[in-house]
Amino acid sequence: MEHNEIATFLKDKDADAAWITTPLNIFYLTGYLSEPHERLFSLLVTKDGEETLFCPKMEVEEAKNAGFTGNIVGYLDTESPFDLIEQQSYKTFAIESEHLSVKRLREIEKAFNVETIVDIDQVLKDIRNVKTNDEIELLQEAAKYADLAIQAGVDKLEVGVSEIEVLNHIETTMKQHGISKMSFDTMVLFGDHAAAPHGTPGERTLKENEYVLFDLGVIYKGYCSDITRTVPFGTPSDKAQEIYNVVLDANNQAIEMIKPGAKIADCDKVARDIISNAGYGEYFPHRLGHGLGLSVHEFPDISSANTDEFKPGMVLTVEPGIYVPGVAGVRIEDDIVVTEDGHRILTGYQK
Ligand code: MN
Ligand code: MN
Repeated sequence: MEHNEIATFLKDKDADAAWITTPLNIFYLTGYLSEPHERLFSLLVTKDGEETLFCPKMEVEEAKNAGFTGNIVGYLDTESPFDLIEQQSYKTFAIESEHLSVKRLREIEKAFNVETIVDIDQVLKDIRNVKTNDEIELLQEAAKYADLAIQAGVDKLEVGVSEIEVLNHIETTMKQHGISKMSFDTMVLFGDHAAAPHGTPGERTLKENEYVLFDLGVIYKGYCSDITRTVPFGTPSDKAQEIYNVVLDANNQAIEMIKPGAKIADCDKVARDIISNAGYGEYFPHRLGHGLGLSVHEFPDISSANTDEFKPGMVLTVEPGIYVPGVAGVRIEDDIVVTEDGHRILTGYQK
């Protein structure tokens, strides 16, 4: 993969090299996915375009098999990778300031005789922000599995079943479909228990006539989905249904305005105004959504603070919610791709 953006950035900043450390960014750039835990794992990109991957020695073969063709420095647990390379000086050095630890930064400054640090974080966010068609296809597949997972949860609903039992059924079903990992901890919340936006599923059992909130996603070939459906079991109270209809309206109308050139902040505003005008403004305490890709939460932020415009290839969530303690919690979340002339909804489960 060509990444002229990195070369351009290094040139603009008069920087000698970049040190990329977020595992998913390394995956994006090299095709090699690794979870190094506390071990050093990084991709050095010099201004001449030379790439060197630093990884534990036991991973060298896997990195090559993943298709990475640059240099690889594999080190043993008892070695410092910096002792294995020729002395280098990179006076101006680009790092991911949102990821690199202070301890590692000190090691690097010493190893490479660094004088000036610059941040490359935004460049990497921008590269991942606009998805290729291949990436969008994988995100579409991930969303289809999310729809299946909601259906699995709905199929398990009966009076007396616990949140944990339903959760377990969803994840077992997904494994039967070959999905080895959910994109985050699956959420199944019954009735008023859903009034905590980030509640934890537990022993709460299902009663007649309440809503069930599912928030879940899968990882398909590295790409994440993230869907929320709030599904009636029987006939929830009039108040709960009223809340549902306001959230549904906010979800639909916010999605409706997504197209290239539309302001991201306005998308949040469309949903927020609908909820505020219905009298529930104080019960919608989070941003409208977030970017989606290799990470389940990534750039861009879909909030009133984002002054950017939608661009073709962005993939994001729209997830308005209203949470009234003791009454009901409703959130409806879809995954959306911005197309050349509008948008396409990747998640399909009925609302
Ligand atoms: Mn989400
Ligand atoms: Mn979600």
